[in-house]
Amino acid sequence: MVELSQAGDGLLRKGFAGDTFNTAWYARACLGPDWSVDYFTALGDDAMSDELAAFIAGAGIGTNLIRRIKGKTPGLYMINLKNGERSFSYWRDSSAARSLAADPDHLREAVESADLVYFSGITLAILPQEDAATLLAEVRRAKAAGKLVVFDPNIRPRLWSSYDVMHATISEGARSSVLVMPSFDDEAAHFGDDSIEATIQRYLALGAINVVVKNGADGVNLHFGGEDTFVPAEKVETIVDTTSAGDSFNGAFLARYLESQDAPAAARFAAGVAARVVSEHGALVAREKLGLSGG
Ligand code: ADP
Repeated sequence: MVELSQAGDGLLRKGFAGDTFNTAWYARACLGPDWSVDYFTALGDDAMSDELAAFIAGAGIGTNLIRRIKGKTPGLYMINLKNGERSFSYWRDSSAARSLAADPDHLREAVESADLVYFSGITLAILPQEDAATLLAEVRRAKAAGKLVVFDPNIRPRLWSSYDVMHATISEGARSSVLVMPSFDDEAAHFGDDSIEATIQRYLALGAINVVVKNGADGVNLHFGGEDTFVPAEKVETIVDTTSAGDSFNGAFLARYLESQDAPAAARFAAGVAARVVSEHGALVAREKLGLSGG
């Protein structure tokens, strides 16, 4: 999405961000050059869509899977600041991204080209219901074919038509995935889980195989390969901006897990990256500031 934030004197600064894109950004930043990361979405054919596509490509993320839709534009949101409190206004009802799963053949080709497929509750929430069903059928197929299908429920009630549709669709997302990466505060608030263990058990019962529950400054609980592990968060002196803490954790975790196949080590690495992200302004923190060594 296009992001507008306040730059003083009534001026607005333009940026680009969004939950799955943020995750792709951190995965790209943390992976070695042997790996490719592609972003699957739909854009329009206006100048802003061109700029957004160029921004994605500039981050080293592949844009070949992005479909362009005539007459459409990207979604837009604005960050409002009042007395230090942030609130968000969205213009996304007619965004091109809402059509990302409207071409089933293109969707299948994209999923088949990947070893790992990542999507979120926000991806599902913005799609027309029949397109969400198409996407879910495709990721179930990928899961059956042995691909690593990863889902972050990223629960945003405002995006859903009702609680019932939200619960049913997010549960279906988890059922269709190999790895679910929820944030405990969202799960407690919207699924009524009274413990992290309850979140893990609910997703396992749905059919997820591995669950990684993020819990802010209180660390991460992994149920991975049948084993439970706790990884603490890193101590952060001053929290500057928690935007995309969860997205950066996911991207860094997946990058390190793909390279090492060691989930607890990947979580320790991701906790370090997320700690740096919350110490800086903005959703997308430059690679040089993430404290990565080598490559
Ligand atoms: P989300 O942004 O999805 O709500 P969390 O708040 O659980 O996700 O944060 C994701 C990760 O970011 C945590 O697992 C942790 O590693 C890191 N993190 C978030 N907040 C803090 C904090 N206050 N101190 C240290 N690390 C943090």
